[in-house]
Formats: sequence, structure tokens, C-alpha cells
Amino acid sequence: MYTESLVKLGKVRSEIREIFEYGNKRKAEIGAENVYDFSIGNPSVPAPKSVDEAIKDLVENFDSVALHGYTSAQGDAKVRNTIAEYTNQRFGTELTGDNIYMTCGAAASLTIVLNAILGKDDECIVFTPFFPEYGVFMERTGAKLVSVESEQGTFQIDFNHLEKAINEKTKAVIINSPNNPSGVVYTEEKIKELCSFLEKKQEEYGHPIFLITDEPYRELVYDDTKVPYLVNYYDNTFICYSYSKALSLPGERIGYIVVSPKIVNFSDAYAAVCGSGRALGYVCASSMYQRVIEKCIADTADISIYKENRDLLYNSLTEMGYECVYPDGAFYLFVKALEEDSHAFCEKAKDYELLLVPADSFGTPGYVRISYCVQTKQIEEALPAFKALAESYQK
Ligand code: PLP
Repeated sequence: MYTESLVKLGKVRSEIREIFEYGNKRKAEIGAENVYDFSIGNPSVPAPKSVDEAIKDLVENFDSVALHGYTSAQGDAKVRNTIAEYTNQRFGTELTGDNIYMTCGAAASLTIVLNAILGKDDECIVFTPFFPEYGVFMERTGAKLVSVESEQGTFQIDFNHLEKAINEKTKAVIINSPNNPSGVVYTEEKIKELCSFLEKKQEEYGHPIFLITDEPYRELVYDDTKVPYLVNYYDNTFICYSYSKALSLPGERIGYIVVSPKIVNFSDAYAAVCGSGRALGYVCASSMYQRVIEKCIADTADISIYKENRDLLYNSLTEMGYECVYPDGAFYLFVKALEEDSHAFCEKAKDYELLLVPADSFGTPGYVRISYCVQTKQIEEALPAFKALAESYQK
């Protein structure tokens, strides 16, 4: 009676959500302060004050009908121009508003792009660990998701594995740097290597291979880490950007797609994005939040708290003997489970009221993800529990 695959999808909650729901139940039982919930990637720092001020200003001074009315399907022209100009200033690109399509976040951006380019016999490469929803976002295209194992330990791209996986059917490659769940940022060297690798493959196969870069964590990088802007490195690029983490606005659903001006047959590429958005019903992203973005274009949430959390968690867990991947960005710590089965490890962690996420669904069994977008106090209080958990494996 109903579309079977979608009924199935609707009934299975993601593993992260399962643990999050378990956490809510447990908090009701023993008190929130006694549960160390590291399950979900919900920003813990508030949106910058400028966001509140922009909202107030818009509500008080902007024409109410226009503020809450439809914009163009691809987003308000002035907003898109502002994003293009700001990006050009920052990265030396040559974008105009016509390279931008406003969306309700990275999930929509990815779904639009994947549906704009993928068909039944195509393959799309992702690198482990990868955001499990990619498979869901491309499900309706009928294309195959091909998972390529990354370098052990560093989780940078492994070109030997990529060489084995790529073939004539490869239509797209998704990268996500800073990465959820590893926190790894691809170095410029790796990006250049990837781009020249893909350029050669395009020539060899005689068709474009699109690079889709999933960037909700672009602004969440620490120390001097730089995130290369892919439009400057590879012509056939789509950027899927979001303000969910950058401005701590995940519930407001606002982001955009950049279609590179140098992409093959730009006018069809942009039309395909518009058509895909239309077919999926992703037209006219939140009108008010488009305008908020325009006013807060150069702002970012205060990420110093995430850095403090990263340092505290990474240093403490490493000292306890946990094997952790050093995260240059995002707000996740990727840790090797203390037994082969990461589900069993996470179950055991629950005995210490630690809620961690097994990374099997990210394509990396044997690892767990710890979301450190929490209050620093929670990390401080959880450290004895992490220690006791580690010691329980030494007995
Ligand atoms: N991609 C990755 C890697 C994510 O971690 C998330 C959300 O956590 C998304 C995409 C979706 O982001 P948005 O809230 O902008 O839809």
C-alpha cells in the first residue's frame, strides 16, 4: 500500500537517534547530571548575538509580508549575491549569486545535488568514515554508494584503495572535511592529489566525475588548520554548505549549494540543481533565515569552547590509554573501541553512564564517536567514568 523501502526507512531510527533516545530515558530515571551523553552532534554554544539582533531588526523594520513571503525558488537574489561576494573576498573565487542555490541545510543540499547528477547505473564514492545518511540521500536515484577505506589511523584518503574502487561508472565522489565522525581535515596536499587523480580519471573515462564537498563543519577548525576551498582546485565541484554548526542554527534549516562557475556545461548544471530542488520540493529556503544570513555573513559561533573540549578530551583519553584520532576540526573525537565489537564496547560504556556511538554505520567498525559539543563540565565529570571503563578492560 505504501512505498515499501520508505516504510522501512521510516521505521528504523538511526543508531545515533536510538542512543540519544535511550539517553533521554536514562536522564529521566537517574537525573540528567548523572548521564554523560556524547551521542548527538547538536551545537552546544549559542548562536552569536548578531543572529538575535538580526532577527529583532528584521521583525521590527523589514516589511512583514516580504519577510515571511516566498523568495525565488533558488533563494533571494540579494542574499545569494552577498554570499557570493563574501566567498570571493575570502577565497579569491569568482562567484556571482547565480552560482548559489539556497537550501534548508546540508542534508537538502546533498539530496538536491545527488539527485541532480546520479542515475540508476552510476556509482558514487565515499571515504570511510562517512555520514551514514549519504546512502539515504541517494537512495531514490538507484545509484550505488561505494565505500572506500581511508588510511588506517590518519583517516586521510588512501589512493591505493581509491584506485581499486573507481571505474567507468563512477559519477561522483563525496568528501566531508572537517569530517563527521573523525574530526579529520584533509590537508591541501591530499586535496591536490585527489583533484589531479580525478582529472586523470575523467580523461581516461571520457566523462565528468563530480566532486561533492559536504561542508557543515567548514568553520569549526582549530589552531592554524586551513580547509581548502574546492572551487579553486577542481572544476567539476558542488559545495554543500550549511549554517547548522557554523552559526549554531541546526533547527532553523538554512544552507546553500555552490555550483562552480567552471563546472562542465554550467548552465545545465545549475538548471539540474534548480530542477532537482523543484522535484524534491526544496524550493525557497526559509525566507527570514536567508535574510539573517545576509546580515550575519561574516559571523561564526564561538568555537573556542569546542577547542577547549577537544583539548581536554583528547589529552585525557590519550593519557588513559585510549587510541584517539587527533581532530583538527568538527566537534567529534574518534576513538578505537577497547574490544573488537564496538557495539559491545558502547553497551559496556552504558554501565558507566557514558553514551557513545558505535561507528559501524560510518563504515568503520571497531571505532566509536564521542560528540564533544557539550558543556565542558560534562567532560570533566565524565573523565572518571572513562577511566573506570578503560580499567575494566585491564582486569
Ligand atoms: N553532513 C554531515 C557530515 C553532517 O554531520 C550533518 C549533520 O550533522 C549533515 C550533513 C546535515 O546537516 P544539516 O543540519 O545542515 O542538514
